This record gives sequence, structure tokens and C-alpha cells, in this order.
Amino acid sequence: MKTKSTILIVDDIDTNIDILLELLGEKYDVLVAVDGKTALDIANKEKIDLILLDIMMPEMDGYEVCERLKSSEETHNIPVLFITAKTDEDSIEKAYDIGGSDYITKPFKPRELLARIKTQLQLRKLINNLDFIATHDEMTGIYNRRQFFHLAIKRFKETKKNLYAVMIDIDKFKEVNDKYGHSIGDEVIKIVTKTIADSILKDTIFGRIGGEEFALICNAESKAIVMKNIESMREKIEKLEVKAHNGEIVKFTISEGISKAKVKTKKLDELLKEADIALYEAKGSGRNRVIFR
Ligand SMILES: [Mg+2]
Repeated sequence: MKTKSTILIVDDIDTNIDILLELLGEKYDVLVAVDGKTALDIANKEKIDLILLDIMMPEMDGYEVCERLKSSEETHNIPVLFITAKTDEDSIEKAYDIGGSDYITKPFKPRELLARIKTQLQLRKLINNLDFIATHDEMTGIYNRRQFFHLAIKRFKETKKNLYAVMIDIDKFKEVNDKYGHSIGDEVIKIVTKTIADSILKDTIFGRIGGEEFALICNAESKAIVMKNIESMREKIEKLEVKAHNGEIVKFTISEGISKAKVKTKKLDELLKEADIALYEAKGSGRNRVIFR
């Protein structure tokens, strides 16, 4: 588990970088960029918690770097603290207008800078926690319904080619809850979630979209690969067991419906609808099976 926050320093002057490295190097993981382009590359590749950004740099200035960071979904959440020799009000106002979180002028007071960095990192942590709560299912830790749809729609727009949707439902789940109680029902949901999460293909979007209902969106080279993958989940899950409070062994299964995006598929909803129909077919034809549509 990573405990140190990572700070990216962006400045075109070596001595400025050295001063900041001296100040921050022990407490934080520090990365350095000497120009805007490199800064953007690093911000996109690494997990950065805070950027200390100089304004006056050749080629791309700090304002432009900040604007680009704020306009990209990957980097817009990273707080930017401007450290600059510019002290006029227009410059300061502009820094905040384009999304800067804080502003400090050079030469800075070291302890003041450290305090401001600490504040920004604390805020960032709070926002991250809130983001996680808003996008993940509390019980299972996987994406919640809203985030699943958000990411799935994005994926659909980006790459419809070889895109598959899978709808998954735990068979006769209500009976488990009624017979053994909700805590055992929750156990079943958790172990099913974990089994699926451990089995999914790379870059699969996996979410809990209802009580005992899950959905997957993935890209794969062939239908055979996806079928084998989701068939293996079904097989693993039918072998699982959970112990009820009365000592009884609880067994459970899942049904899965799968569909593939076609040229004529215009919206994600259509793809999911097809998978849902396939899921109902799987339920109707005896459960614990996979149906492709
Ligand atoms: Mg400079």
C-alpha cells in the first residue's frame, strides 16, 4: 500500500526544481518535468496527487498546461498549485479561472508552501473518497449501476467493434434470502462478485446493476473467447458454497445472457437489451446456463 503522496514539479529552471526537491523530497514521492509537454505526459501516465506548476515556461506556459489538464477526464481531478514569479492580480485571477487550486508567488516561504501543499493533498483525499463512494457499490466494492452505465456508454462510443455485453443474475436469489436470511444472501452476492471479478477478461467493465444483477462490457477477439470466459464463471460459481447459520450448506448458480454489438446497434441500451433477452431465455430454459443472442 502506497502511503506517500506523489507530487509533480513543473519548472523550466533547474535551480527552482532543486529548491523544491530539497523541501519535498523526503516527505513525498516527487517527479519532475522541465517543460509543459513532458508534464502532461507524466500526468497522464502516473498517478499524481498534486502538481506544482510554474507559469512562465518556453513553448507551453503553465496556463496552457493547466487548461489541458483540466480538459482531460484522466487528469482534470489533479489539483494544480501555481508557483510563479508573477505577482500581478490579473495573473493570479487567471490562474484560478482556468482551474488552479492555489497560487503562491516566488520567492515563497517554505513553511507556507508546505502547509498549502498539505491542505491540497487533504482535499484531494477527501474528494477521492467521495468519488469512490459515488461510483462504487458499497457491499461489493465494484462499480455501481450509475458508474457502470457511465463507463459502458463511453466504451460503446469509443469501440463498438468486437464489443460484448453480458447480463448476469443469481438464480432464485430471493429463495436464498427468504430461507437463510439477508446476511447469507449478502455472503452469496459477495462471493459471486469476487468470483466474477477474479475471472473477467482484461479491460472488462464490471458492475452491480441491481440486487443480484450484474453486467459486464468487454472487447474480445472472438465470440469463443468471451463464451469460454463467462462459461468458466458459471462453472466456478456452481461449485461454491456458503454455510448458513443453521449449519446447512447453501448452493447457488448464475444465469448469463450475452450479446455482441452489430453494425446496426446504435446505442448501448440496445446491446444490453439483447443481453437481457438472452438472460431471460437462460432463466426460462432451466437456469445455470449461458445463452448467446
Ligand atoms: Mg519559469
